[in-house]
Amino acid sequence: MRILFASSEVHPLIKTGGLADVSASLPQALKRLRHDVRVVMPAYGSVLDKAGDLEQVATLQLPGFPDDAVTLLSGTLPGSRVPLWLVDAPRLFRRAGDPYRAPNGHDWQDNYLRFGLFARLIEHLALDRAGLEWRPDVVHCNDWQAGLAPLMLSMHESRPATVFTIHNLAYQGLFPRHAFDALNLPPHLWHYQGLEFHGKLSFIKGGIGFADHITTVSPTYAREILTPQQGFGLDGLLNHRAGVLTGILNGVDYREWDPGKDKHLVARYSADDLSGKARCKAALQHHFKLPCHSGIPLLGHVGRMVAQKGVDLLLKAAEPLLAAGEAQLVVVGSGDAALEQTARNLAQRYPEHMGLHIGYSEPLAHQLEAGADIFVMPSRFEPCGLNQMYSLRYGTVPVVRNTGGLADTVVDADPEHLEAGDATGIQFDEATSQALADALARALALYHDPACWKRLMLAGMAQDFSWGRSAEAYLALYKDLVS
Ligand code: ADP
Repeated sequence: MRILFASSEVHPLIKTGGLADVSASLPQALKRLRHDVRVVMPAYGSVLDKAGDLEQVATLQLPGFPDDAVTLLSGTLPGSRVPLWLVDAPRLFRRAGDPYRAPNGHDWQDNYLRFGLFARLIEHLALDRAGLEWRPDVVHCNDWQAGLAPLMLSMHESRPATVFTIHNLAYQGLFPRHAFDALNLPPHLWHYQGLEFHGKLSFIKGGIGFADHITTVSPTYAREILTPQQGFGLDGLLNHRAGVLTGILNGVDYREWDPGKDKHLVARYSADDLSGKARCKAALQHHFKLPCHSGIPLLGHVGRMVAQKGVDLLLKAAEPLLAAGEAQLVVVGSGDAALEQTARNLAQRYPEHMGLHIGYSEPLAHQLEAGADIFVMPSRFEPCGLNQMYSLRYGTVPVVRNTGGLADTVVDADPEHLEAGDATGIQFDEATSQALADALARALALYHDPACWKRLMLAGMAQDFSWGRSAEAYLALYKDLVS
């Protein structure tokens, strides 16, 4: 099959979250299954620096956008054989900062133009109007940044099938009315059954309302977004489209996330020989200047510091454990200034028990996955979540809220599952620090029973969330749509 895969971030070129991981792994998995998949993304300045050899393959005139002509550059996704197309519109994409925000942390004011142009480009590629003599069978668009493409394609009679994947419904791409006018969209779409959402232009509605099929990244999240609690105002529309909505769990790229091969670790290890994990723990303690005790449970957390991830619940629930010297805590992340400050305050109060890195660090994320005993993910909602799956493979027992992909990937160590030997972590229900504290108390009790803990670790390490299975599920969907 010929698949055009459109995403605004792709690892290792640029990444703000799990979308980038998925946008690298899924195309590679499809390629391994011998399909003709090509990735298209914006040519941000930092991407041009990392993308290796590029060739200019087309120039397109797109009236209404600040760049008179947009160039399409062709290369290969680093570390793979997946063809890559970069949309080079220098005035829109060659800027400092992350893909969506200026260095001062504020969203770029013209994001509607940037991703409106991206969608137009996807439309042109999908219809083979860029002179490349390649026409996909399926166009797979991801998140709001590519959301207008399914809508634009829906207006053509002869066109490829479209799939839209929601990686996080909380991010919708909402803009003032003038953005709708600036993008020259058909006036009748300024309607609640079109792109209008409470007086704003909604990019994500272009995907949800007009793609042939919608997916999201776990079966549980696919059910949760149909409820008013988790639907972010779109549950009505999603219920209307529930017949073409499915949840397909993300996979893990075990070439990057495998404690037996991980180049970021001081020692590598596997289920057969866990001794390297103890060395990773000591190295992590040393890095954060914590006492190098092997017996004290080390709790870890990596993630964006936003309300969604529940890091506030973690900081509150962990404090008594730090005060009593019953656990150490290491947190790696950045985001909301107030949450960062709360984390700093706690780390200052308990320097002997807490390590903190504010910022983004790929090596530290790997080192923490390996060096921690317990990985804590108290997310208020979690479409899929990758870190808990990494933790399982690294023998780091996850403590997670029973929501979204966390519910689908971790088996709670209740008496029944402990007895059956298939427990892999701890789940808790309420999004409160008390419920998390109770879950941590359960985890620590198990930790202090070494035989039981080792069974939990090994059961987790034996789990297989590789991309193969997820890629097969996407393929089955593509084939279904094309036939
Ligand atoms: P989300 O997409 O909501 O951010 P996921 O769990 O799906 O959450 O994916 C997050 C990805 O980003 C993981 O690979 C995680 O390790 C990584 N990540 C998040 N914050 C950081 C950070 N501060 N340093 C390194 N990696 C991070």
